[in-house]
Amino acid sequence: MQTQLNELLPNLMPIAQPGIFFVRGEGAYLFDDQGKQYLDWVQGWAVNCLGHSPQAVVTAISEQAATLINPSPAFYNRPSLELASLLTRHSCFDHVFFGSSGAEANEGAIKLARKWGQLNKNGAYEIITFADGFHGRTLATMSASGKAGWDRLFSPGMQGFPKATFNDLASVRRLLNLNTVAVMLEPIQGEAGVIPANADFLYGLRALCDEFGLLLIFDEVQTGCGRTGNLFAYQGYGVEPDIMTLGKGLGGGVPISALLAKQHCSCFEAGDQGGTYCGNPLVCAAGKAIIGTLLEADFIAHCRETGKQLAEGLHALSENFNLGEVRGQGMLLALELKADIGPAIVEQARENGLLLNSPRPHCLRFMPALNSGEEEIREGLELLLNAIQTVLR
Ligand SMILES: *Cc1c(COP(=O)(O)O)cnc(C)c1O
Repeated sequence: MQTQLNELLPNLMPIAQPGIFFVRGEGAYLFDDQGKQYLDWVQGWAVNCLGHSPQAVVTAISEQAATLINPSPAFYNRPSLELASLLTRHSCFDHVFFGSSGAEANEGAIKLARKWGQLNKNGAYEIITFADGFHGRTLATMSASGKAGWDRLFSPGMQGFPKATFNDLASVRRLLNLNTVAVMLEPIQGEAGVIPANADFLYGLRALCDEFGLLLIFDEVQTGCGRTGNLFAYQGYGVEPDIMTLGKGLGGGVPISALLAKQHCSCFEAGDQGGTYCGNPLVCAAGKAIIGTLLEADFIAHCRETGKQLAEGLHALSENFNLGEVRGQGMLLALELKADIGPAIVEQARENGLLLNSPRPHCLRFMPALNSGEEEIREGLELLLNAIQTVLR
């Protein structure tokens, strides 16, 4: 007889979550300890881009685990070199540093910008970030984030992250001074409720950074790796940042992140950045399997089609129930609800066997696996319709 899972709960520090224990995942579906099946449109927070336990990742990490797990971060290894080469060949960047979480990659981006400021701009260190932005939960990335209340949560926060208003170029201009070294943002603000940057805003930021000799940093931890219907969101906009960070989808569920930089600002020397698990072969083998799959002919095109199917379904729901706008790109979408019924819909959908996320009480966010099939999208839309109907009744 196995221990009841809820008897083990007091051993963990608290995380707010319903009392569900998932014991197995397969593709678009999760299964709990009661055997109930859920269609998963959260997918580990836009992490499992190929769904649960995809064969490509299972094979890659099983083979790598049997071969070499950890030679130490002080030596090179083949999977990390090959993954770095894949990433630079398919992006505008020249150098890659691997970390284990999105926050760690962003810490690296902040350090890189500050070092570049020391070398090139008389020690300029201020990085303009944005209200409602999200960059992680370390002390520096919390300060860089623009989540309400986070500046005081674990005071004192870190200095040097003045906040501008998203999609408002003038608000960025107003913050410029001799200490400014960079501008950092998500091309689509994910946690804020999937708020896409306007193309003009990003062109304007690029021009502003060029005019004043500043670095443009894109946090693509959520938008990267196929999620928006491009390998990276910047490619869809046609605006190249100087530095980009990746996480989430890059490992398909395995903890890996990356900091990418163009040659002209890639100023780390050996020892400036590192970490015990950075670039270990096990996680890099997963990353290689993921990027390799995303680069297969038609994968991204299929993902765009599926995103379109989902967006059209959401539009129809919105019209049906007189809800608000459908936002986002590719397979990162949100539905505005016009009222704070997000949490109630999430709960009802879960009852019905569909996992959803409500990043703000007035909207829902959709992050299905990128390889979802037409039938799964139809099923999810049906379950969503039922949940909305029940909540609005
Ligand atoms: C999730 C996320 C992060 C933080 O990533 P972790 O792996 O949780 O540290 C940073 N930036 C963005 C845009 C994210 O969505």
